[in-house]
Amino acid sequence: MGTTTAGLAIGATAGTALADGTVGTTSELVPGLVTVNRGDPLYKDLLLRGYNRRYSTDPDNIKVVGQTSHVVQAVNEAVDSGKRLAIRGGGHCLDALVDNPEVEVVIDFTEMRDITFDTDMNAFAIQPGATLGQVYRTLAFGWGVTLPGGVCPLVGAGGHIAGNGFGALSRQHGLIADHLYAVEVVVVGADGQARAVVATRETADSDRDLWWAHTGAGGGNFGVVTRYWMRSPGASGTNPSALLPATPHALMTSQAVWRWEDLDEDGFIRVTRNFSTWLEENSAPGAPGTALHCALSAPRVERPEMMIVAQTDPSVPGNEALLDAFLADMGAGVGTAPRIVKSGQLPWLTTTINAPDSSVAQGVTGPPRWKSKVAVMRKGYSDEQIATVYQHLTRADYANPASSFSMTSYGGQINALASDASAHAHRDAAYTGAVSAAWDVVSEDDAHTKWVQQLYHDLYRDTGGVPVAGDTNDGCHVNWPDLDLLSADWNTSNTSASALFHKGNYPRLQGIKAAYDPLNVFRHPLSIELPG
Ligand SMILES: Cc1cc2nc3c(=O)[nH]c(=O)nc-3n(C[C@H](O)[C@H](O)[C@H](O)COP(=O)(O)OP(=O)(O)OC[C@H]3O[C@@H](n4cnc5c(N)ncnc54)[C@H](O)[C@@H]3O)c2cc1C
Repeated sequence: MGTTTAGLAIGATAGTALADGTVGTTSELVPGLVTVNRGDPLYKDLLLRGYNRRYSTDPDNIKVVGQTSHVVQAVNEAVDSGKRLAIRGGGHCLDALVDNPEVEVVIDFTEMRDITFDTDMNAFAIQPGATLGQVYRTLAFGWGVTLPGGVCPLVGAGGHIAGNGFGALSRQHGLIADHLYAVEVVVVGADGQARAVVATRETADSDRDLWWAHTGAGGGNFGVVTRYWMRSPGASGTNPSALLPATPHALMTSQAVWRWEDLDEDGFIRVTRNFSTWLEENSAPGAPGTALHCALSAPRVERPEMMIVAQTDPSVPGNEALLDAFLADMGAGVGTAPRIVKSGQLPWLTTTINAPDSSVAQGVTGPPRWKSKVAVMRKGYSDEQIATVYQHLTRADYANPASSFSMTSYGGQINALASDASAHAHRDAAYTGAVSAAWDVVSEDDAHTKWVQQLYHDLYRDTGGVPVAGDTNDGCHVNWPDLDLLSADWNTSNTSASALFHKGNYPRLQGIKAAYDPLNVFRHPLSIELPG
C-alpha cells in the first residue's frame, strides 16, 4: 500500500498586490512536497494528467510540488537515489518524453499554477502548471494584456514556453517565449547538488545562456523550470498593462468549406496551393496580411468536408476587408466555389479560452490516443506532394474521421528575429504542415499510427521521409516531439533529430547543457546531448 506524505507551507506564494489592489491568480494554501506512491488513490489521477493515452508509465512515485524549495528537495532525492526523473507541467506532451517506462520519479506541477505581476522583476510571473487558458484569462481580466501562445487552452505553460509555442496572435507578436524576460530553473551541478538559478535576458547576466536555452530548446533538457517571467522586449515603464501585447478587442472567424464530393485531386491541389502561396506572399514581418491567422484542415474523407479557417480582429480598420480578400483568393481557380461561413464579431477572450480540444472537435469521445507529425515549411508543397496527401486522405483501405492533414500560418513577427536570437531556429517559415490522427480504441493503435507515419514519410520522400531544412522545408518544431525521427525506418535522411529541431543552434545548446546539467540528470529520448 502506498503512502502520501505532505507538509504544509501556508500562504507562501501570495500574489504581489499592485497599487490598484489588483493581484494575479495565486494559491492561498500551498501544499508541501507531496509524495504520491504507486498504490495511492491519487496516483492514477496524476498519471492521467498525460494528454496522449497512447503512452503510460508507472513511476515509483510522483512528487507534487508547491514551491521552488520542494523542487530542489525532490530533485536531490531523485539524484541521491539514482532515479530517472521527468517533469510534468500541463501534461500535453505528444510523444513518450514523460510517460515513458524508464521514468522512475515524476515532478508534477499541477499545484504550481500562479499567474501574478512581480513588481521586483517588473514582469508577469507564471508558474509552469498554469494552463494557457488560465494565462490568457488572468492576463486579460487583470491587466488587458496577453501572450501570443498556442490555441489549446489546456496546454501547460511548463512545456509550451520552453518550446517557444505559437498560436493565433504569433504573426502579429511573435512566439510566446519571444516575450520571456527571465526564468527560474532548478539545475544540478557536477557535485550532484540541486540549486535554483534565475537567468534573465539582460546582456550583463552571467546566466543569460540559460535564459536563451529556454526560448525554444524545449522542456526537460536543462533543469526544472519553477517560474517564467514575461515582459516584451522593448517594453518600458512600470505599468503592467504596457509590458505585454494588448488583448485584441474582438474576433471574427471565417471558413471556406468544400464538400469532398465536389473536390477532385486537381481541386485539392489548387486549394492547397492558393493557401501556401498567400502565406508565402503575406508573411514578412509587419506585412498587412499578418493581422490574419489561418489554417487549412483536410480530414480523411469519412468526414464530408475540408475547410480553410481564418481569423482576425474586425474592430481594426481594414481587417474585415483583409479577411474577405483572403477568402476570395482561396477559392480562385478551384472550379467549385466554397461555402463561406462568417461568424460575425465575437468576444476575443471567451472564444479563445473556450476553444474545443482538437480530438473532441473531431468526434473522439474519450481522452484521445494520438499520433502527430509536424514540419515547419518555408514554401508551398509541390503538386506531386499535394497529390500524395490527397491519395492518403482518400485511400480505400483505411478509415478514420479523426485523421487529417493540416497547414497552419506561421511567419510575420516570428520571422523578425534571427535564427540564433533565440533557441527557436525557424525564423523564415510561412506555415507548419501536420499529419495527425486521434482515436480512442486501443486495438486501433497500429492502424492509425501507421497511416500518419506513411503519409508523412511519402510527403517528404525526396528528403528521406523527414522535412530536412532546405529551400522548401525548415525542419521540425520541438513542441511536437516525434520519436520516429530516431527510427531508421521513418528517418532515412542523414539528418539527426537534433538538427531537424535545432538546426545551427544545436552546438550552443550542447554547451549550455554541459554548463548546467553536466551529469545529464534531465534527459528524455529527444533531449539535448552532452557534447562529445
Ligand atoms: C491538443 C494539443 C494542442 C496543442 N496546440 C499547440 C499550439 O497551438 N501551439 C503550440 O505551439 N503547441 C501546441 N501544442 C504542443 C504543446 O505546446 C507542447 O506539447 C507543450 O510542450 C506542452 O506543454 P505541457 O506543459 O502541457 O506538457 P508536459 O507534457 O507537461 O511537458 C512537455 C515537455 O516539457 C517538459 N516540462 C514540462 N514542465 C516543465 C518544467 N516545469 N520544467 C522543465 N521542463 C518541463 C516535460 O518534461 C516534457 O518534456 C499542443 C499540444 C496538444 C496536445
